[in-house]
Amino acid sequence: MSNRFICINACLAITILFLFSCNNSSTITTKDSNKLFLDSLISTLSLEDKVGEMTQLTLGMLCDGSGPYTLDEPHTLNEEKLKTAIVDLKIGSILNSGGHSYSPSKWNALIQSIQAAAINEKTSGIPVLYGIDAIHGATYTSGSDLCPQQIGLAATWNTELVRKIAENSARDVYESGIPWNFSPVLDLGIDPRWPRFWETFGEDPLLTSDMGEAMVLGYQEGPYPIAATLKHFYGYGMPLSGKDRTPAWIPERQLREYFLPPFERAINAGAKTIMVNSGELNGIPVHVNKKLLHDLLRVELGFEGVLVTDWEDIKYLVSRHKVAENYRDAVKLAIDAGIDMSMVPTDLEFPGILLDLVKDGEISEARIDESVRRILNLKLELGLFKNPIPKTSALTSEEGDLNNYTLQAAQESITLLKNESEALPIDLDSKILVTGPTANSLLALNGGWSGTWQGDNPKYSNSGRPNAAEALIQKFGEDHVINFPLEMDFDESDIEKIVSEIKLQKPDYAILFLGEMPYTETPGNIEDLELFQNQKDLATALKATGIKIIYVFIEGRPRTFNDIESMADGIIMAYLPGDYGGVALSKIISGEVNPTGRLPFTWPKHASSHIPYFRKHTEDIHTDFSLNAFNPQFNFGYGLSYCQTSIDSITIDKSSYLIDDTIELKVSVSNKNDCDATEIIQVYISDLVASITPSVERLRQYKRVNIGPNQTLEITMRIPLKNLGFIGIDNSYIIESGSFKIRVNKLSKTFDLIK
Ligand code: BGC
Repeated sequence: MSNRFICINACLAITILFLFSCNNSSTITTKDSNKLFLDSLISTLSLEDKVGEMTQLTLGMLCDGSGPYTLDEPHTLNEEKLKTAIVDLKIGSILNSGGHSYSPSKWNALIQSIQAAAINEKTSGIPVLYGIDAIHGATYTSGSDLCPQQIGLAATWNTELVRKIAENSARDVYESGIPWNFSPVLDLGIDPRWPRFWETFGEDPLLTSDMGEAMVLGYQEGPYPIAATLKHFYGYGMPLSGKDRTPAWIPERQLREYFLPPFERAINAGAKTIMVNSGELNGIPVHVNKKLLHDLLRVELGFEGVLVTDWEDIKYLVSRHKVAENYRDAVKLAIDAGIDMSMVPTDLEFPGILLDLVKDGEISEARIDESVRRILNLKLELGLFKNPIPKTSALTSEEGDLNNYTLQAAQESITLLKNESEALPIDLDSKILVTGPTANSLLALNGGWSGTWQGDNPKYSNSGRPNAAEALIQKFGEDHVINFPLEMDFDESDIEKIVSEIKLQKPDYAILFLGEMPYTETPGNIEDLELFQNQKDLATALKATGIKIIYVFIEGRPRTFNDIESMADGIIMAYLPGDYGGVALSKIISGEVNPTGRLPFTWPKHASSHIPYFRKHTEDIHTDFSLNAFNPQFNFGYGLSYCQTSIDSITIDKSSYLIDDTIELKVSVSNKNDCDATEIIQVYISDLVASITPSVERLRQYKRVNIGPNQTLEITMRIPLKNLGFIGIDNSYIIESGSFKIRVNKLSKTFDLIK
């Protein structure tokens, strides 16, 4: 601990003793003592110290190399750059790697040197707050187990498991010396064209809220607590064009109805930080929207944590959004709107500009103090003043069965969508042909934010994790697998070779690994949701050989493939299942594991017809005026298992309820087979008539249950009537009396809500 903090802590101890002796009955809470510590610390800070605290730079700004994106390997700190940033400009936060993953020991060494400069050479001695994107395991820490991306985690419908997964990620991040994670993403995955669709928990607000809360608690309240970041506040995930960081038009009612609940729940769960949406919402870049960043977030939702910009977003107000003429005006707009910390992250001008704005009286020092207090409070809560570098043993720690959770999550996420004539599972004696552009790639299994930002460099893949083809060879044996690797741009001649191989070797099955290679953000923009033509040609040609065909989709968004759907005997959606996705798939394909995943989104049948399941009734009207227009390839919540269950009956305890009542729903679910089954009981409720057009239905509850062989279970589920409201005409939450329908699978009941 630096001398300064020893002194502040000593003074603090005396003050607390004094307060306590004045009033024996008063209890000094952590909040009180933190406040005293912060009051004391802030009173000693210069304006330069304060604006430095509000600044975040990328690691590349401190390393040897000609620029932040062009570093010399092996990414060594440059003494001069370190001194300029940390000591002279007093920068309070650093993020990111220099472009790829590092070993835990490299991370520890880097962060130790940065903290040493901050603590020993900077006048304030305040430690640096390091932040990273560890969005599915520790993205940038080599050796960390990469688990399924959020879209896959949502398909498990298992919040307890997601909490464990987050605890494990937190451990790897913490042990890298990093206390702050830019995760989870709480945007809704509502437009499958959007290249960050897979970073979400899917389209449903309830599932997203539950998953988000579990992840925040896993990060912040596990054995290795780190700060979570809710991304990206808010309305980011549904741009009109489907392309990243392009305009979204979402009225306030819809924002509050669908997009706000996950953030609200995670804030209530204690999320310590939030990152702002890079895009514009209804014509206003969110980074300058005081109504959202202050009135909604601070006043209405009571968020007390740190609000950080996204990458370079204050500068983009000038260069992209064109709402400010120059950097100075942009800084003023963003700070006025409520930003605490600017992820600058590649220039050194920000603190100077902010300083001038305060000196010129355009921003008050009181406003700066507000943000600085939040940032220092976060550093305090994370224990940085006592222990700027977590003292840990590094990733090899024995405790926890990291691989099991990661593998379990991959297994529970994988979703069986079609299984005609029980084509799956495949007997281990069978001969299988394994091909397709995602079959021989660990990168494909992991997707973006894996070793690197785009997840596209095999050099930074973790070793010893088999890709799908390797895992199938391990499972079925070399003699049983014909592996034909393909690149994404394979052509007719490759297809002809595979067809000849099939004719020659006569395998029983062709397993086609279809889908996409990794991407995120703008590089992942697409012009068309339809699956690639060469992949469809491959399926068509292989079907013509007469063998059984299984499609396995390794992809972050549901590409449409209706014209080749009928050619498949079996279809599996694996999402982006992570480092152990290959193993999980081999277990599912061979029948060692029963698939239990359920889609967390609606899979469209046609590229231009993607609407979520909670559509409005008018969206059901067909050209022939029947009510069959909503006809996706696969419904939200859909998924098959090898061991099928059935919902035999449902009952509710009353036929009419008062607003404070809770519906007691009993579901009888049975497994009439000799195998262990798992079912995800999904409860949908329809408000039959409402003052704002009601959704056809909304998911209101769900439960993952295990059912033994030949067992019948009666599951009780409770749904408070208070949860059945909506955002009304004046944009606030209301619950209206009237009739409702409750549905589980094909069974339904109606009831009334009376006031
Ligand atoms: C992304 C954020 C991420 C940040 C820092 C941005 O480009 O939008 O999600 O946390 O970079 O890496």
